[in-house]
Amino acid sequence: MLGLMQDRPLMISDLIEFAAIHHAKEEIVSRTVEGPIHRYTFKDCAARSRQLAKVLIKLGVGQGDRVATLAWNGYRHMELYYGISGMGAICHTINPRLFPEQIAYIVNHAEDKYLFTDLTFVPLLEKIAGQIQKLKGIIIMTDDAHMPKANLPNMFCYETLMAGVDDDYQWPLFDERTACMLCYTSGTTGNPKGVLFSHRSTVLHSFAVCTKDGVGMCNEDTVLPVVPMFHVNAWGTPYAAAMCGAKMVMPGAKMDGASIYELMETEQVTVSLGVPTVWMMLLAYMKENNKKFSSMKRTIIGGAAAPKSMIETFEKEFKVSVIHAWGMTEMSPIGTACNMKKTHKSISAVDKLRLQLKQGRAVYGVDMKIVDGEGQDLPWDGKAFGNLLVRGPWITSGYFKGEGGQILTKDGWFDTGDVATIDPDGYMQITDRSKDVIKSGGEWISSIDVENSAVGCPGIAEAAVIAVPHPKWDERPLLIAVKKKDAQVTKEDLLNHLKKTLAKWQLPDDVVFVNELPHTATGKLLKTQLRSQYKNYKLPTV
Ligand code: ADP
Repeated sequence: MLGLMQDRPLMISDLIEFAAIHHAKEEIVSRTVEGPIHRYTFKDCAARSRQLAKVLIKLGVGQGDRVATLAWNGYRHMELYYGISGMGAICHTINPRLFPEQIAYIVNHAEDKYLFTDLTFVPLLEKIAGQIQKLKGIIIMTDDAHMPKANLPNMFCYETLMAGVDDDYQWPLFDERTACMLCYTSGTTGNPKGVLFSHRSTVLHSFAVCTKDGVGMCNEDTVLPVVPMFHVNAWGTPYAAAMCGAKMVMPGAKMDGASIYELMETEQVTVSLGVPTVWMMLLAYMKENNKKFSSMKRTIIGGAAAPKSMIETFEKEFKVSVIHAWGMTEMSPIGTACNMKKTHKSISAVDKLRLQLKQGRAVYGVDMKIVDGEGQDLPWDGKAFGNLLVRGPWITSGYFKGEGGQILTKDGWFDTGDVATIDPDGYMQITDRSKDVIKSGGEWISSIDVENSAVGCPGIAEAAVIAVPHPKWDERPLLIAVKKKDAQVTKEDLLNHLKKTLAKWQLPDDVVFVNELPHTATGKLLKTQLRSQYKNYKLPTV
């Protein structure tokens, strides 16, 4: 017997219309590419999203068509999120930090019909224009006064198109499983693969972002997503903010420490989300210039492991609580968040910090488990580590156009490619990506542990640990580190520091200092490049 509840589909358009009614006056503040700060309300955003849907219909965009964006976090990008998905098309966010050839590849692979771009990326598009000729047009997200003289075919001006229509539009209702957003993985191995979110998965994920045990976003918050809207939908912030009516602050193209800090202070931001590299820049700026926060309460750190020193600095020096979170594009992205339980109320500061280094417990909606090489379940004892598998309604079931084939196990689990432990309270800790783990004489050395310890050494700014082939042990760790400006730290200092937390067999066989480390388009260490660069490195232990 079926229940007798209304079968109203979960629609992205409902999020923005809900915000227009219930959070009508809440603001969306954006630092524009053109320069000035722009501010308007959720009500304005809803009206302009409807207008945009009419623009799309006029351009001939239909249900299921892909419409690409190459844009920073800003109000026009919000309108695209809602306008494109709301009318039944698919918003395809492109990471501009990918190589130009990769961008051309994914525009063609996605068969994008139109592409909306910020002014910043016009030169990039001019470079690849010859490779993306199937596009019916490129819309420059600016007004007539700022239109560039670019060498691009079928160029339109966003504001001119918007001026040609009104906002009298009724969002269609359709199957909630319909695709709404498309986001390609960064493609560190092979070509990028498309993850295709649905209206249902996106709305359900927004609830998780708004739960106290998730990201805890709520109406009291002013949220600044430093994580870009081309990086797994800014971790769901644009949807969750509409759901709860948090004020949004969008940093645009300026992601440096000084600009982010200024915006946080002028707009009285309370919560911000980003990867460790951006926090590194912000904290360095604040320390150098003796700055303090006046409104910030929480920071969500994810995308890569949050180092202990970073958590300590935020909490002790700047009085901002840290929520360490884990996820991936294939998971919309949120899987776990490291919020305390009531049983942790009386734990010591040291134990709390130890717990915060873990990526946290699953949010409701995510099932997880760890298995060994044969697929057998491993115990949740905080010690056994194995491949981390997940399943749930906002986790991918396969890549766009079937790339990569059948990716789930027979009983529906997705292998995250991460290696982890889970403790008896359900707190998961990533020990490595399966590709990055160092297999030394039958033991596994976690590159994350070594890197975490290394960046805690005074004078060290960033560190990467990779496996280098070794005749006796198969692989041994090599530490590649970047010193802080003017730091005098030596290899011996660094190794002595590591000895405080690592066993002898886990210590790197050698240390190389470099001026900078390579990063992927999503800000992670690009270990494939380091491994190929150092594959013939002669360790002193050989
Ligand atoms: P995102 O775009 O959200 O960074 P990606 O799909 O690019 O997601 O990468 C996901 C991978 O990033 C995860 O599989 C994991 O290896 C790594 N990752 C994400 N969050 C964390 C974290 N808090 N600690 C360690 N690794 C993390």
